[in-house]
Amino acid sequence: PKEVPGEPIRMRVYGAGELSTAEYDALLQRPIIDSEEIMGRVRPIVDAVRANGDAAVREFTEKFDRVKLDTVVERAPFAVPDLPAKVRAAIDQAYENVRVFHAAQLGGDTHVETMPGITCSRFSRAIERVGLYVPGGSAVLPSSALMLGVPAQVAGCREIVLATPPRADGTIVPEVLYVAHKVGATAIVKAGGAQAIAALAYGTATVPKVDKICGPGNQYVTAAKMLAQNDTAAMVAIDMPAGPSEVLVVADATSNPAYVASDLLSQAEHGPDSQVVLLAVDLTDAQLAAIEQQVHEQAERLPRVAIVRQSIPKSFCLRVASLAQAMDFSNAYGPEHLILHNDNARACLPDVVNAGSVFVGPYSPESCGDYASGTNHTLPTYGFSKMYSGVNTATFLKHITAQELTKEGLANIGETVMTLAEVEELEAHRNAVAIRLKDL
Ligand code: NAD
Repeated sequence: PKEVPGEPIRMRVYGAGELSTAEYDALLQRPIIDSEEIMGRVRPIVDAVRANGDAAVREFTEKFDRVKLDTVVERAPFAVPDLPAKVRAAIDQAYENVRVFHAAQLGGDTHVETMPGITCSRFSRAIERVGLYVPGGSAVLPSSALMLGVPAQVAGCREIVLATPPRADGTIVPEVLYVAHKVGATAIVKAGGAQAIAALAYGTATVPKVDKICGPGNQYVTAAKMLAQNDTAAMVAIDMPAGPSEVLVVADATSNPAYVASDLLSQAEHGPDSQVVLLAVDLTDAQLAAIEQQVHEQAERLPRVAIVRQSIPKSFCLRVASLAQAMDFSNAYGPEHLILHNDNARACLPDVVNAGSVFVGPYSPESCGDYASGTNHTLPTYGFSKMYSGVNTATFLKHITAQELTKEGLANIGETVMTLAEVEELEAHRNAVAIRLKDL
């Protein structure tokens, strides 16, 4: 849609009490993504990279990114660019906070004696080779490189391969290069889209094959990740399905309308398909109007107002009578980001069942988590927060279990195991215990 300067930039407003069940349920749905059409476009790209390797990566990079690559991969050590001191310091601060928070997630090994003489343990090992997709050729997204690279580094991955679309001159965004250096990346693939994902999944003459691919991206990237995951020939895992970014904001009479509007808009500026939801808890018409006024005024001043004009009218405000109703809606929606602007916000945390990441109270804008406070910004969208976690240190780990039984332990559990083996009619299983018990 064309930008129409001056027209109010407004969300749709619904009253929860006036909606039918069907209308209420419709508000919980995300727009349907036509994955068949995208899959049809992505499959030939993935097949071509699998068959022709680097040559295909070059061909698609020329076609989609208009860049002629001389080499597809740059290997560490990278030529670390000169960045403005302020930018370097900001990346360093963000890196440190994200590192500290993710290092704290490492936890320890588990050792449990389940019965006398039976020790069960669990320990973690890093996934050896990981591929991290950092989106955007035109955009500069060092934060994505940080949010994927730091947990991989903290987990101890041996090979960390970044993939990112090259700039028009074929080089890598300098801020991304600096982050790649900091997180100890071993190689950078100068390609984006489905061709980059396929190269990571299958490997080429120059692109190392990886065991797991993580990171956000457009619909071509997402489709290629799904295809690779479903192909046993690729033997590759992915982090999670991804859709457009989302925020759900809870506001009540105590909330600062300007702060609430600023959070709604920081999501709305992402793209025309950004999902923005405001839950207005027992607000008067005047209180809601104050937020709407702030949305309009702040939006008009944004460089990306044209995008906001598309995303805000697609988003909505739901007026609810109580905080309990707000939390019910939020949990049913399962937002990627949940921002609690209501009074005594911290007391709501126990009621949060489904959300990617929660921002508690008036001084915790999502932007801080997006960049630098320490939590990860790669989070489940599209309602997948109901069953997926955001990227974290465990994303890059596997957990291995072990057990050791003493003679006493085997004597203690032998009868139980043999009985269950008999029930399942697996005689060799029963015998493996019986043959030892005889000798005790
Ligand atoms: P991208 O890196 O995801 O995709 C760019 C690539 O798409 C190009 O390199 C090209 O190869 C490929 N492509 C473009 N047109 C194509 C076509 N017609 N057919 C096949 N392939 C084509 O960058 P983007 O497009 O700018 O998208 C970035 C996405 O990442 C956005 O959806 C954004 O919301 C998301 N994002 C999410 C987060 C997060 O943490 N949730 C952070 C940053 C970005």
